[in-house]
Amino acid sequence: MNSLLDHTPEELRARFADRGIERFRADQVLHWVLVRGVDDFGAMTNLSGDLRSALADDWQVRPLERVAVHAAGDGTRKLVLRTADGALIEAVTIPEERRQTVCVSAQVGCSLDCSFCATGRLGFGRNLEPGEIVDQLLHAREVLAESGLAPAPTNVVFMGMGEPLLNLKNVIGAIRTLTHPSGFGISPRRITVSTAGVASRMAELGAAVPVRLAVSLHATTDAVRDQLVPLNKRFPIAALVEACARYPVARRDRISFEYTLMRDVNDSPEDARRLAQLARKARAKVNLIPLNEHPGTPFRCPEDARVEAFTEAVAACGVTATVRRPRGSDIYAACGQLGTLGDRGRGPSSPGSGR
Ligand code: SF4
Repeated sequence: MNSLLDHTPEELRARFADRGIERFRADQVLHWVLVRGVDDFGAMTNLSGDLRSALADDWQVRPLERVAVHAAGDGTRKLVLRTADGALIEAVTIPEERRQTVCVSAQVGCSLDCSFCATGRLGFGRNLEPGEIVDQLLHAREVLAESGLAPAPTNVVFMGMGEPLLNLKNVIGAIRTLTHPSGFGISPRRITVSTAGVASRMAELGAAVPVRLAVSLHATTDAVRDQLVPLNKRFPIAALVEACARYPVARRDRISFEYTLMRDVNDSPEDARRLAQLARKARAKVNLIPLNEHPGTPFRCPEDARVEAFTEAVAACGVTATVRRPRGSDIYAACGQLGTLGDRGRGPSSPGSGR
């Protein structure tokens, strides 16, 4: 059976036309699914009965099933979702003052094995299809509506499980649907793709979709980054920073360096100074994330005073530095914790991101 959400609106029109169905029917169907949240062809009342049955025979609408929702004290919610082939993935909704951000997964598991990440320990399953990425947003919107929270996701971050740039074609397809006026209509400027540093694919992403880029830097020397993010051996810091400097950003915008602070690993005054230099070269701002400790990690979070001193040292070099406090850490939904609980009672479900 074909998966409806695996196709961008343009592709779906073409597929419908191939089958002798008027192209505009694709927009009608997508409006039902993506805007009105209807997933039963039988309920799509502006389509003829014959067309509804033909579509139902041919097309699957939603590829994911909701398994569990864990609510944190700070309003963050972690969704555990099951794919048709039985893999468990996770998405997280993060309420902020005037926005509702949804963190989505791009892969089942991850091949990159970052040493501080719950995901890295669990290995790689497979790439998610575009529809499996889009459906995470539909599930998130439903959960938010049921919770009486802001009904619609306003921002999307690809910081869940997996490395988005190693599933680039499907991530771009999903972004095209999320940003299309017939779909969620989310501005590309409200979508951030986070990479552990696949420098060779950053330009392709930026050329295809004008989304924001976040780079998980986490270290200021190759010796330390080789240990934390083994991908650094393929794309060392200098190559990564060069690719960052070439990434297309809107005027007055910046890419972000994500930097997880780990006690006595990467939190020295020299690290702060080197981080600021790298950020200036890459024209990046810096998000500092005190480590979310999780079972099994040998790394620890620095004391508050050390985090503060590090932030001030980066800012003193003229670089914008913001401390991102963990969200949802009590339900293991914070960065680096996805997959450590999964569906409670089942143990680890699927890998989770350390970004
Ligand atoms: S931090 Fe990201 S890239 Fe690294 S292992 Fe975790 S999910 Fe994969």
